[in-house]
Amino acid sequence: MKIVTQILLIIIAAGTLTIDAQTFRLKRPVKNNIQINGSYLYGEPSLANPALAHRGIDIAISYDTVFSASSGTVYFVGYDPNNVVGGYEPNGCGNYIFIKSNWQSKNLYLLYCHLTKPLVLQNQSVAEGTPIAISGNTGYSTGPHLHFELRMNSASYSTTRSRRNPELWIGMDGMGAIYGEVPNAPNSTRVDISPDPKPRPPYTTYGYSLTYNFNDPYIGSDDIYAENYAIGDVKPGTYTITALGGAYTRTVTVQSGEVVNADISTDVEQKISSVRNFELFQNYPNPFNPGTNISF
Ligand SMILES: [Zn+2]
Repeated sequence: MKIVTQILLIIIAAGTLTIDAQTFRLKRPVKNNIQINGSYLYGEPSLANPALAHRGIDIAISYDTVFSASSGTVYFVGYDPNNVVGGYEPNGCGNYIFIKSNWQSKNLYLLYCHLTKPLVLQNQSVAEGTPIAISGNTGYSTGPHLHFELRMNSASYSTTRSRRNPELWIGMDGMGAIYGEVPNAPNSTRVDISPDPKPRPPYTTYGYSLTYNFNDPYIGSDDIYAENYAIGDVKPGTYTITALGGAYTRTVTVQSGEVVNADISTDVEQKISSVRNFELFQNYPNPFNPGTNISF
């Protein structure tokens, strides 16, 4: 312990403490100019049931190709009259594809909802970037979009706190992302960012975020980031982030491809560390849990 302390003091004295920033872990599942619908964020109170949360992100794709964000195996494909992955109502996800993948030795499930036409078969292996579907407006959906959801480290495909914020996994080319933790923030606390970080045009969605609604037992934080808010598709630049009337204020610099922690002082260099590390995972009999729910 004494040696560790001495090393830490030397590093602080030299002013060169280096913290790993991360990169996006998955390929964006749509063409690069298609935006995320920033008015319905991950963790925002659900439109279907405000006591719960939106458990994924909505991508504003009309009727266009959806690509696999990772390698993996198609775990389920088709319409879901038996409510296999669980919804507020049967068929909430419409036509969907559920792909099982793996990240750092943990199960990772990727859910693509509201599709018009799947292009893959159950048990099929897919590579990152494989066209898997034509998007659409099936199921509980008020307009064409792709509901994209990540579930991590699930013994089955849906367990408590298993959701992750896809905005921190699938950035647009040339963009970065910011995350942090507003201490003691009530659910859905507004987090503002200035100046406007979004690339416009064609990107036209909102430039603020909300802390997650953890009343929903399925909403989780990232295994490494441990955040309670995130802002995706941020142009490279320096930003001020504020919440709780300024009680939470951070200055953060983002570069292309970086996922940056706003709570680490900007005089500390955040070094890129690639964590894109997927392995194809063997399919095994479905460990169904018919009691689980998801929101769309
Ligand atoms: Zn959605």
